[in-house]
Formats: sequence, structure tokens, C-alpha cells
Amino acid sequence: MEEAERRENAELARLKAEAAQCRRCPLFQNATQTVFGEGFAGSVVMLVGEQPGDQEDRLGRPFVGPAGHVLDGALDAAGLARGAVYVTNIVKHFKHEERGKRRLHKHPNRDEIEICRWWLDQELALVDPKLVVALGAAAAGALMRRRVVLSRERGRLLRLPEGRAGFVTIHPSAVLRAPEAEARAKARAGLVADLRAVCAFLKPQAEAAARARG
Ligand code: URA
Repeated sequence: MEEAERRENAELARLKAEAAQCRRCPLFQNATQTVFGEGFAGSVVMLVGEQPGDQEDRLGRPFVGPAGHVLDGALDAAGLARGAVYVTNIVKHFKHEERGKRRLHKHPNRDEIEICRWWLDQELALVDPKLVVALGAAAAGALMRRRVVLSRERGRLLRLPEGRAGFVTIHPSAVLRAPEAEARAKARAGLVADLRAVCAFLKPQAEAAARARG
């Protein structure tokens, strides 16, 4: 690993420790812990979800619950190693309401998303991915800073407002929410196809980098 990358990874670790104490908005009050992004500086792809869910909140890692299992399967099927991508969320605390013993997900509001960008912007600067992949409309809207209609914009290259290459696909939980097996299979196949398109976008870049290395 190069010296600059070592420094950036140390900086990411420092940022994660700082985020563990985050009190920038009230969401920390009902969450178990901050769920910071996971992966390495220099990862070519950054995957961005909405916010940690119940399991992520308990375990302190992004996408390790049911939606994470769908994501892992889709990454695998598309030929993308999870260890090679940086995985994070636009909001770092689990927003929910208690219903008996269950903790039900609540969407973060515009202020919570904006306040939490403080962390995402620093992750983006340190990881410096070639492609930022939004998982679902909430992440896409936050990254694009406008409403994103997934059915119109998924699966193709977009430009984020600050100039980075962006890409939008469904949230893996959409696979779980689909009402019956056929719809679930279709949603899963769509997610895999989108992630394959991500690989296709990255291939020329990887080849160019390999040529440059000799
Ligand atoms: N859903 C998300 O958007 N992020 C997670 O980390 C888990 C579920």
C-alpha cells in the first residue's frame, strides 16, 4: 500500500472514531451507535444506502442485516467483491419508532440528511471513488440533491453535482419488500444487472490503470 493511501486510511479511522461521538442531530439519542462506512481509501466504487437498519444499529456495521445479505448476493453475482467496495449510508444513525418489541425504520428527514452530509462528504473526499452508486431513491436524492425517479434513471451513468460519476439502482430491501417470489426474483435480477453495468463501466478504467502500471 502506498504511503498516501496509508495516510488516508488512518484518516478514515480517525473520522470513524470522531463520528462515534456524533451529536450533530438528535438521531443519536435513540440509536445504539453510529454506523460509519466500511472499506478502504482508494476503493473504486462507493455504495451509498439510506441509513442503518435494526441489525446494523446493533452490530455497528453497514448492510449486515437482511438487506445486506441481498446486497452481498447481488455483488457476488455481478462479480464485485464486497471487500473491494466502500459501503456507507447517507445517515449514520438508525431512525426508528418502537412498536412493542419491534423497532420500525423511519425515513430520515431533509435536515437530518443534510446535517449527516458532514460525514459523507469527508468519506467521499478520503475514499475518492471513481463511481458513487446510490442504493435507492433516498440515497440517490441526497447525492444528486434533487428528486430522483429510479425507474427513469437507474442503470446508467449520471453526474453528481460536485462532478463525480454517479449511478443509481434500487435499494436491496426492495427485493425483500416485493410481494411474491416472481417479483422478488425480478427485482433481484434487476439489481444484479445494474451492478454488472457498474463493472462494465469500471473495466476500461481498470485496464487503463493496469497499462499505466506497465
Ligand atoms: N439499509 C440501508 O440503507 N443501509 C444499511 O446499512 C442497512 C439497511
